Amino acid sequence: MTALAALDLAALEALFTEWGEPRYRAAQVFDAVQAKGVLDPAAMTTLPAALRERLARETTIATRVVEAQASEDGTTKYLFELEDGKRVEAVLIPEGSRKTLCVSTQVGCPIRCVFCASGIAGLIRNLTVAEIHEQVLHVRHLLGERPSNIVVMGMGEPLLNLPNLVEAIKLWTHENGLHFSPRRITVSTAGTPSKVDRLAKLDLGVHLAISLHAADDEVRGKLVPGSPAGRTQDLIDAGARFARKTGRDVTVEYVLIAGENDTPDQAEKLGALVAGRHIHVNLIPLNPVTHRPDLHAPSGIAAKAFAQRLRDQGTSVTLRTQRGDDIAAACGQLALERSLAE
Ligand code: SAH
Repeated sequence: MTALAALDLAALEALFTEWGEPRYRAAQVFDAVQAKGVLDPAAMTTLPAALRERLARETTIATRVVEAQASEDGTTKYLFELEDGKRVEAVLIPEGSRKTLCVSTQVGCPIRCVFCASGIAGLIRNLTVAEIHEQVLHVRHLLGERPSNIVVMGMGEPLLNLPNLVEAIKLWTHENGLHFSPRRITVSTAGTPSKVDRLAKLDLGVHLAISLHAADDEVRGKLVPGSPAGRTQDLIDAGARFARKTGRDVTVEYVLIAGENDTPDQAEKLGALVAGRHIHVNLIPLNPVTHRPDLHAPSGIAAKAFAQRLRDQGTSVTLRTQRGDDIAAACGQLALERSLAE
């Protein structure tokens, strides 16, 4: 059965024509689902009861919110259950006037970054278009307003589920739906240069983040074992091509781990990798994860020294503060804790 949220306006019009419904009903349903985030046909009270019932019978809702957990700093984590019982999550991070929603694209993840809970069991499956898109719709509905930004940085490797992600982006940016500007969407990848090129070619207008976490192949091979080895330079080259071709921002994400990738040598190499390429570096002190108690964030002083070394080389850098660590808001943690408890 089709998920209602995955139907664009043309598909909805075709369906309603087939059902003998007037055309304007399609626009009405599209507005309820796509602009307001109302997923349950029973709640679409402007529709005749018979149509509500038929929609409920013949279309599905792909995800259900099973938990919303707020952190002391305002970060909220939403846990979703899929129709097959699998679980994924999204995290809403308020920052000043911004409300950034971090969404998932896969159940599990094949990349297996050592510090990330999403990859522990490897990849289980890709999310469907509706499963990706509904995370945003549910939050829009629960929040009573649209999040201001979307970052595709939750569970999974987005570029390994690119066709479904592209359809979800089309729905997020639809002018009769949530109407996100693509400039408010960032796709994050730890993955392959050819996929970055493919994303650039699609010219969606979104920004790119590259999860680098190490400045040479040896250290990256240890920290990001599921990423193709020997490709650190190639990945940065692909990021630079993306920036040139699309004119959009490219950011390197670098999770700082004490004694692993926070050495002066890595700072020098990272500065050299991004030099002159209009790539911003975002340093993120490690959020502790229960499956690797041996990994720690560097001290504040050490993190600042790493950032300063980059600045001294002319690199544009921000050092992020930790968010939501009292609710384990680093990617994949909540779904993991729940699955271990069951
Ligand atoms: N596979 C994609 C999308 C996942 S986002 C990618 O790797 O880009 C991955 C991001 O989650 C990392 O770049 C990092 O910023 C964040 N992350 C995951 N686990 C973390 C942890 N334990 N501490 C801090 N950040 C973490």
